[in-house]
Amino acid sequence: MSPAPAPSPMRKALERLGLVRDADLSLHLPLRYEDETHIVRLADARDGEEVLIEATVRTAQVTPRPRRQLVVHVHDGSGECVLRFFHFYPTQEKAFAPGTCWRVRGVLKRGFGGDVMLHPVMRSARTELAQTLTPVYPTVAGLPQSWLRKAILAAVERSDWSDTIVVPDAWQHAPAPVLGLREALLFLHHPAPDVSLAALEDRSHPAWQRLKAEELLAQQLSQWIARRGRAQQRAPKLVARAGGLPEQLLRRLPFALTAAQQRVVAEIGNDLAAATPMHRLLQGDVGAGKTVVAALAAAVAMDAGWQCVLMAPTEILAEQHFRKLVAWLEPLGVSVAWLTGSQRKSERTLMLARIASGEASLVVGTQAVIQQQVRFHRLGLAIIDEQHRFGVAQRLALRSKSSPAPEEDSSGGDGSEGLEQHLLMMSATPIPRTLAMSYYADLDVSTLDELPPGRTPVVTRVVSDQRRDEVVERIRQQVAAGRQVYWVCPLIEESEALDLTNATATHAQLCAALPDMGVALLHSRMPAAEKRAVMEQFTVGAIAVLVSTTVIEVGVDVPNASLMVIEHAERFGLSQLHQLRGRVGRGAAASACVLLYSAPAGGRLGESARERLRAMAETQDGFEIARRDLDIRGPGEFLGARQSGAPLLRFADLAVDGAWLEWARALAPRLLEYAPDAAQRHIQRWMGGKSEFLKA
Ligand code: ADP
Ligand code: MG
Repeated sequence: MSPAPAPSPMRKALERLGLVRDADLSLHLPLRYEDETHIVRLADARDGEEVLIEATVRTAQVTPRPRRQLVVHVHDGSGECVLRFFHFYPTQEKAFAPGTCWRVRGVLKRGFGGDVMLHPVMRSARTELAQTLTPVYPTVAGLPQSWLRKAILAAVERSDWSDTIVVPDAWQHAPAPVLGLREALLFLHHPAPDVSLAALEDRSHPAWQRLKAEELLAQQLSQWIARRGRAQQRAPKLVARAGGLPEQLLRRLPFALTAAQQRVVAEIGNDLAAATPMHRLLQGDVGAGKTVVAALAAAVAMDAGWQCVLMAPTEILAEQHFRKLVAWLEPLGVSVAWLTGSQRKSERTLMLARIASGEASLVVGTQAVIQQQVRFHRLGLAIIDEQHRFGVAQRLALRSKSSPAPEEDSSGGDGSEGLEQHLLMMSATPIPRTLAMSYYADLDVSTLDELPPGRTPVVTRVVSDQRRDEVVERIRQQVAAGRQVYWVCPLIEESEALDLTNATATHAQLCAALPDMGVALLHSRMPAAEKRAVMEQFTVGAIAVLVSTTVIEVGVDVPNASLMVIEHAERFGLSQLHQLRGRVGRGAAASACVLLYSAPAGGRLGESARERLRAMAETQDGFEIARRDLDIRGPGEFLGARQSGAPLLRFADLAVDGAWLEWARALAPRLLEYAPDAAQRHIQRWMGGKSEFLKA
């Protein structure tokens, strides 16, 4: 399929719209339609309606006042109308000679002075009437509608639309789209004039149904192929010895695993023991206890003689993991290395050497762990915490760490060459079911659906910033009772400096209001060592109130903290608020979360901000929060950086097309088996080269 031969500026404009292949053009659907299929009598036209009339010119004149304009008086036998043009060519005045007949399309305005159309589109009355509605496409400067219409129609007609939804015999009675793809596309570009515009708008028309089914099938197919590709890769079989590290670690833990933790540990254990790489997402609400699951997976890998790396999105979070893992594993003889962007060069050099030699069997760090200089001796398992905060490129970089570099390869012979590592991703943002079935269909998912015992529900209050004093009073009481408090200030995207001013001001204010109570400030611009010191003091209880920007957004674990105040809560996303709230309620004390909001001067909070705050007050269930977030914000939030690679759905809407999703999910593996060529053509047509990204 070659693109339409277009003059170069046009082609550039097309490229700007992402229209390169015939398939792209064909799938570039109209924004709306215009009806040029019939002529309306002026007498029958309604005020404000866009109509096509056929009229004869009585007079055409340029008048200089009140503003220079071309005024054309026309009539069509049933009525009269004035056409006004503020921009016109001198030739137009001549063209609209008295007695000439025109097709005029425009919005008719009825007024005391008579009927008027501003800047109507004029065509010769000899042109034939359109047989179908006229499409109006999304376009860019330099790409006229008329040209785009022709190019798109040509592309649709030139393309091979042979059916790729070929169904196996046993599948014949299942539901299927009723309209062929070619017919569907021709219809959507040029619908018959009698179509229900509502069915086009709400996408319930069979032509739309066909496109949705096609698109969802393409998505399912590419995910199946990605999954199959992985099934052909080899990974080390990681099985712990009886009485080995995992068992020892379990014995050392100060608590027993919940049933949910036991279940997911077993699921992960099965994957690790297989000769194909694990590709599993561990989802569990904030505080569900994912870290210990990760530690047990790492223990399996290390017990089998392989290295393990754990990557976290922020230094504070990585550090928390590091401490916890050191405390749990070093007494068992495991050497843990630490890698971060801010560490001293000498320390890093030392760490790199320990990792390369295999002396360190567990590596914990930030993105620094995927840097080029990092060479593993024998990496068997990679764990990514808060996986949605990382991009495709970072996951690919981590994957490239598995095979030893070629020059080391020759000396090898321990059988680790060409083996892929196992991958465990973790997230506290549960993926709603429809997304799990679509965008994440290539992943295995384990869910921690149970919190460890002893958690106390967090009472959530939405409070106006005008009642700040009461909140400060509440803090005083908590601190007097020996509890600790978080106060989170929002990150202001446009200005880190402003962000800081805000946090600094709040810190000063709280210091003044709560003298001698130990109020400290933590923000992203502080040197790493200073941040660490503050966190350490807060962890041991030397600081009572921690004012911070969003640096503590994930992972901080201080069970004695019982109050979380979030300033300008209206500026946070729902899942962020939920994560922040998860920092309290981890101990035995009754805990609370105060969402301080301030409406814009003289106004009310926006609708979606109000919905977010309401959701927070109404539920504490991470899955329910995720579902509402999906309603409020769409799938982007969940897909995170993944969306930069994997194409988002353009036609299907998971909220209403669940039935087609189920259909595609069931058909995809059958199609791959029954008609692999058709499956390949289907993916090619719909995805071009984009399905590559699914490998990450
Ligand atoms: P998250 O899933 O948010 O990463 P963490 O792994 O940080 O949660 O666990 C939260 C807290 O719960 C930690 O203090 C952890 O030690 C504790 N914890 C984990 N599992 C259990 C359990 N089975 N019983 C009691 N406490 C647990
Ligand atoms: Mg965690």
